[in-house]
Amino acid sequence: MKIGFIGLGNMGGPMAANLAKAGHEVTGFDMADVSIDGVTMAASAEETATGRDVVITMLPNGQILRAVADQVIPVMQRGAVLLDCSTVDVESARAVATQGQTADLLALDAPVSGGVGGAQGGTLTFMVGGDEAGFNIAKELFDIMGQKAVHCGPSGNGQAAKICNNMILGATMIVTCEAFALADKLGLDRQAMFDVVSTSSGYSWSMNAYCPAPGIGPQSPADNGYQPGFAADLMLKDLRLAQQAAEAADADTPLGQAARDLYAQFVEDEDGAGRDFSAMLPRFEARGHS
Ligand code: NAD
Repeated sequence: MKIGFIGLGNMGGPMAANLAKAGHEVTGFDMADVSIDGVTMAASAEETATGRDVVITMLPNGQILRAVADQVIPVMQRGAVLLDCSTVDVESARAVATQGQTADLLALDAPVSGGVGGAQGGTLTFMVGGDEAGFNIAKELFDIMGQKAVHCGPSGNGQAAKICNNMILGATMIVTCEAFALADKLGLDRQAMFDVVSTSSGYSWSMNAYCPAPGIGPQSPADNGYQPGFAADLMLKDLRLAQQAAEAADADTPLGQAARDLYAQFVEDEDGAGRDFSAMLPRFEARGHS
């Protein structure tokens, strides 16, 4: 396929490289001066999108996505697929999809989970919203960039799945860290706590696969001085998107709201910026936090 790829950062760069390595003809564009193995760089977003079968975007937020969509939709060929893999607000995803459909394009929102390691290794999970025809065309590309793609329903549902998943992740990470700090104060050994919880009803991905306590459980950012991994800043972004969506949909999400507020405090007022999101544990180890 002829693919245009816009946004070649930490995630987009390796995703585009994997598509090129698999034999697709990939043209790329980024605001920053980057070069990616196997990808021909273009001078603008418009040039990247012209004459391509699929245009993929991997951008920081919904506002930037909307601006790039305004540039590329008018030049894309009819029947081409506009595939946005960024994590953005549901409203922007739906607005861009409508704009694309009006121009006779197939539009998909397909945010990912798996982080930079998953992008490099081609093991991402894609959560996809949009029509079936677009999903069937893009499936071949999902199989290269990832290990799983779930079609979640109409436009915006990929973003909905992503923010619901990450709201659960944020809340379970916080409570797992709280529980370790409480266990410390009760004199319960961390290894014993892990051995019990990871095989009892308190188990979760945060505990079992990404344990926030150094030296306990599988290797995780806690074993590497809480270098991300998945940065607390990115978790905060996703929790804000979840609350934005909850407010728009009039959904009651008190724990999601509390998780957002705590990560905001951690990132903006404390030392959380640039640290892994599991660094909530050292935060709770100090007494006196609210
Ligand atoms: P990044 O900042 O490394 O990459 C974004 C790229 O977009 C940058 O290279 C930037 O120069 C480029 N860009 C910005 N505005 C542009 C424009 N108008 N035209 C062209 N290029 C433009 O971010 P990332 O970590 O690659 O994340 C990308 C998206 O993936 C975000 O929505 C993020 O939330 C999501 N995501 C990231 C991770 C992760 O672990 N990094 C995991 C899952 C999802």
